[in-house]
Amino acid sequence: MTSRYDILFQPIKIGPVTAPNRFYQVPHCNGFGHRMPQGMAAMRGMKAEGGWGVVCTEETEIHYTSDLSPFIEGRIWSDDDIPAWQLMNEAIHKHGALAGIELTYNGYDAANLYSRAAPFAPRSQGLVGGSGYEPGQSRAATKDDLKQIRKWHRNAAVRAKRAGFNIIYCYAAHNLSLAFHLLSKDNDRSDEYGGSLENRVRFFRELIEDTKEAVGDTCAVAVRFAVDELLGKDGMQFDGEGHDIVAMLAELPDLWDVNVSNWSNDSTTSRFEKEGNQEKYISFVKKLTTKPVVGVGRYTSPDSMASAIERGIMDLIGAARPSIADPFLPNKIKEGRNEDIRECIGCNICVTGDTRFVPIRCTQNPTMGEEWRRGWRPEIIVPKKSDDEILIVGAGPAGLEAARALGQRGYHVVLTDAKREAGGRVTLESALPNLSEWRRVIDWRITQIEKISNIFYRSSPMTAKDILETEAPHVIIATGSTWRRDGVGRNISRPVPGSAKIFTPDDLMDPNNLQLINWRQAARPQKILVYDDDHYYMGGVLAELLAQNNCEVTLITPAPTISYWTQFTLEQERILKRLHNLKVTLLADHIIASHTPTTATVTNVITSAESTLDCDAIVMVTDRIPNDALYHELKPALAEGKLKSLRLIGDAEAPNIIAQAIFNGHLAAREFDEMINPDETPFKVERIKF
Ligand code: ADP
Ligand code: SF4
Repeated sequence: MTSRYDILFQPIKIGPVTAPNRFYQVPHCNGFGHRMPQGMAAMRGMKAEGGWGVVCTEETEIHYTSDLSPFIEGRIWSDDDIPAWQLMNEAIHKHGALAGIELTYNGYDAANLYSRAAPFAPRSQGLVGGSGYEPGQSRAATKDDLKQIRKWHRNAAVRAKRAGFNIIYCYAAHNLSLAFHLLSKDNDRSDEYGGSLENRVRFFRELIEDTKEAVGDTCAVAVRFAVDELLGKDGMQFDGEGHDIVAMLAELPDLWDVNVSNWSNDSTTSRFEKEGNQEKYISFVKKLTTKPVVGVGRYTSPDSMASAIERGIMDLIGAARPSIADPFLPNKIKEGRNEDIRECIGCNICVTGDTRFVPIRCTQNPTMGEEWRRGWRPEIIVPKKSDDEILIVGAGPAGLEAARALGQRGYHVVLTDAKREAGGRVTLESALPNLSEWRRVIDWRITQIEKISNIFYRSSPMTAKDILETEAPHVIIATGSTWRRDGVGRNISRPVPGSAKIFTPDDLMDPNNLQLINWRQAARPQKILVYDDDHYYMGGVLAELLAQNNCEVTLITPAPTISYWTQFTLEQERILKRLHNLKVTLLADHIIASHTPTTATVTNVITSAESTLDCDAIVMVTDRIPNDALYHELKPALAEGKLKSLRLIGDAEAPNIIAQAIFNGHLAAREFDEMINPDETPFKVERIKF
């Protein structure tokens, strides 16, 4: 039977190898890297099992003089690194997929904090790797040094071939690699590697030629090239040198993997860019080469994927995040199960695995990163071990995921929520400016729940008495949390004294609360202070919402920068730009000390200097109070044997990000009917064996 999506399942030749289909997991960081090869192998293997035809590594350091620590990336410094890659490649090849390796020499982007070597770069310049502000400089590579680096790259390619890789990358993207630095306008060299474009392309061309010569008989040689830096004339441009570089090297590699630079432009969140956003930059590439082209753009819709190939934008659908959110995306399309695709929501929590140096995690896919250490699989879960019934109170992300996964196990589950509509905080938050894609968290779960006949949804507020009257032997409390109104949080430990009108995110997100409409319709713009001691998206998003509703907003935070934690999701610069455009006044390093109906006194956390700001109201984005009263009220029933089990999950246990609520709900479902020893670590830990 032919299908609209057949085009996605056509094999395609890439140099000497053939990809079984058009689903291409492009290189992506994951926090496992060289430190946790088993976790890595299991995670990548899962993608191959789910149908991704090509599965690549992350940036992989070729030599100790380009050590990316503290980030934990791949390593192929020596033959000793080969076994770890063999482990991963076996897991990938087992399912008929090709394995690709992104060889990397990063120049001044490598801080070399571990190796303590001086990194080579086009010239001696301040390091931008590590924190971005490491106090050191690179060493200017002489022509002999460049020759040496080519040799290291070649050696790494040979090792990669021995490790079983099928596709070997020459990397010039993300404003990271030495090849990219040499291509850029920052290259002020006067030798044959600087000056004219032809000279600046020389090193990249040599790397590709060396790699082809060394391993090209059996391995495809791919290039990853960022065609635009989104810096206008100050950077690479897709209709300038980006175009010319592709034209010059058009037929040299076996595959072009093209994107935009830097990483925050490549992996934009859904708050700022939509599916397919890179097409306008990369679509020229296929016109200049006959070699297969891979592009990315957070494609989760099979129609958009098929269309991108049909329209001649790309030959293979590159994906990092869509493959993280749903390792089985290709198989689901193949099986005609599009509605089962767990669509990425574009939140970049996955990125924080890399930026916080821990194993990757995903909001949509709670099994991501848990494949080896907990043996979790995204599509399969152990069947039920009893016929016991479970009542779940609260249908936010935690309750929904617990119900879905317990239902998948075969348990009889009753899910209740005080509200008519399930979804909890996600329903509310996804209605905030530019967060609509977050609804996918609930949409996917509700779609799945509707298919499981042993899960029942009831809309009713539950008291402890109501719960006991249901006679459900097992109760899971997922009642979420409530934003504090008193200013208490990380930086203020006692309620802020005063008499101003105070609002919380709960107030502003409540569809029945008319406050926002009143402010929008007020005769003069209302002066609203948003005090953000949460530091993730909420403070910035509410400032955006208020600014769009006729308010003069001042966003105050005790942190040194606005929306501090969003640097780890690669969003901070865009947030700042948006807030500036909306004329939001930004005040870092301050806490609110007290308030009156028309003013707030703020204190500089560094100097203790006080100042007074006019305001009509204050929005407190601080700590949240767990809604755990039901749990505590039911504990005696557990002690008396009226309940067999009682568990508190999600924000009701400990307020956190949505990804944690989903994970926690999933964990509760997996651990149900299991004996858990609290004295033992419930997952495997990768340790060096002595
Ligand atoms: P989480 O992020 O932990 O899933 P949420 O705050 O998103 O938490 O969701 C909690 C849900 O619990 C909300 O939809 C809320 O309406 C519901 N809820 C809270 N208390 C009760 C209760 N007593 N009875 C039924 N539902 C409740
Ligand atoms: Fe997508 Fe968010 Fe999952 Fe990353 S963490 S793959 S952005 S849903």
